Amino acid sequence: MMATLEETVTGAQIVAEALVAQNVKYMFGIVGIPVIEVAIAAQVAGIKYVGMRNEQAACYAASAVGYLTGRPAVCLCVSGPGLINALSGMANANMNCWPLIVLAGSSDANQETMGAFQEFPQVETCRLYSKFSARPSSLEAIPNIIEKAVRTSIYGRPGACYVDIPGDFVNKSISTSNVRYPDCCLPAPISLADTFEVHKALQILKNSHQPLVIIGKGAASSRAENSIRRFVEDCGLPFLPTPMGKGVVPDNHPNCVSAARSSALKNADVILLLGARLNWILHFGLPPRFQENVNIIQVDICAEELGNNVKPAASLLGDIDAVTKQLLEHQRRTTWKYPSDSTWWKNLRAKIKANEENTNALALQTSLPMNYYTVFHHVREELPSNCIIVSEGANTMDIGRTMLQNYQPRHRLDAGTFGTMGVGLGFAIAAAMVTKEQSPEQRVICVEGDSAFGFSGMEVETMCRYNLPIIIIVINNNGIYSGFDEDTWAEMLKSGDPESIAPPLSLKPNAHYEQVMTAFGGKGYFVRTPDELQLALKQSLAEKRVPSLINVMIDPQSDRKKQEFHWLTRSNL
Ligand code: ADP
Ligand code: MG
Repeated sequence: MMATLEETVTGAQIVAEALVAQNVKYMFGIVGIPVIEVAIAAQVAGIKYVGMRNEQAACYAASAVGYLTGRPAVCLCVSGPGLINALSGMANANMNCWPLIVLAGSSDANQETMGAFQEFPQVETCRLYSKFSARPSSLEAIPNIIEKAVRTSIYGRPGACYVDIPGDFVNKSISTSNVRYPDCCLPAPISLADTFEVHKALQILKNSHQPLVIIGKGAASSRAENSIRRFVEDCGLPFLPTPMGKGVVPDNHPNCVSAARSSALKNADVILLLGARLNWILHFGLPPRFQENVNIIQVDICAEELGNNVKPAASLLGDIDAVTKQLLEHQRRTTWKYPSDSTWWKNLRAKIKANEENTNALALQTSLPMNYYTVFHHVREELPSNCIIVSEGANTMDIGRTMLQNYQPRHRLDAGTFGTMGVGLGFAIAAAMVTKEQSPEQRVICVEGDSAFGFSGMEVETMCRYNLPIIIIVINNNGIYSGFDEDTWAEMLKSGDPESIAPPLSLKPNAHYEQVMTAFGGKGYFVRTPDELQLALKQSLAEKRVPSLINVMIDPQSDRKKQEFHWLTRSNL
């Protein structure tokens, strides 16, 4: 009698099946030896594979899917230098508390320490950039390690996880009967705050004179939009979103005090901090930007975060959505509501009005070249209210954040906690992949400084290859922070070579970035006036299949409106 042929499975197939078992839907990467077969196996298993042009962008994209959907995506890369490029994305995801799985091939298990091709201490390296970093000891061990990586990326404070795949595992086969795939890990368990602290928090709020709610991207991660909105409305509290906390409660909500940000922070006596760290983005919670004795009610999923920089008046350890519901429940038992006719509300409203008038005056200037405010004013007029806005750059991101509104949660992606430049195109590709499936009519708008665009400009080819109708707007001021117009540049070069005399901040004047897009079949627009800008925006929005790039020339010396405090990137200049 002939023996029946034993059914076998390769390492690449085990990786793919283990990811599918954990409900991983997207993989972004760049293939090469030894991971080509992993990408193919993933596609065969039903995972959407997006081939990118640089591992950095691939990793940024995968991390953005994690934030947008709550389930991690995979960044797949080759060993050594491939993985090292991806470290930027791992670090950025971990800093942002976004779930992510990085999978890299590595040199063959039996060649370790021999000087193998692209050999590098990958597991050790990734430990610094992740919550979990491991190499399976055998093919049989792969599914459990992948389950642990996926679970770890979403449980507790979310973050990046790394799984190393030795090159010789990829095509090695074992009997199918030897492989067990663990069930899909359950959604993260929900943790609740101590009721004593909940009670104390409400007591502190009730005794406040000038309360403020700060909504961070942890609130967006927690999908706490409904509970937070109800709490803000039921209590009549002013709220301020952080850059990526924008949209958890809509920017046009009457309780939003973004336009009086500095004043709100400086004068609040009680702050309910919902999923935001007191790091540089919030000026460490310290004077001169905050009151010396401000009472902070801190809500966070990470116990180690509680008390960083400021000793909290109440510490609510738990999931934001669940804790906000606890707060709501306690609040409902009383009829307390912060009075809408308080001096605090009057002062905040007056400040908002004055700041909006200032901004409008700048936005309506008609001189050419345009300034930032004029450009963003026209962009704001044309954008659909449900679009996802990706943004990076210095002034482009800072001014854009104040001018462009978000009406829905998780609809703004930017340089984030780590202040990373180069994230924009990867994030936009991720957002377009997710919306393509979930709500195809939704648009992704990627607002880039000209310098920021340069970090990952070749990803426009990826956008064209996958027919993603992303609209990239490059706000072009010929430089980093600021640059020179063409005449000044030419005049300057008469006295020497650029490497000797050109300020390190300057980039080539009038660069035609839109031609990078047309090179691959996308639409390109070179824009100098408000009319040209409006037309380009309308045409780009009408285009449903291919991406567009609108290159908007602005005054190279255009700047932010005068600030009471220097903030963000300019503080060290
Ligand atoms: P922002 O940049 O908006 O200021 P940060 O990234 O600094 O926000 O802070 C987000 C915080 O939210 C982190 O401290 C993180 O631990 C916390 N966090 C993330 N997810 C949750 C969640 N589901 N529930 C509670 N806190 C969360
Ligand atoms: Mg610039």
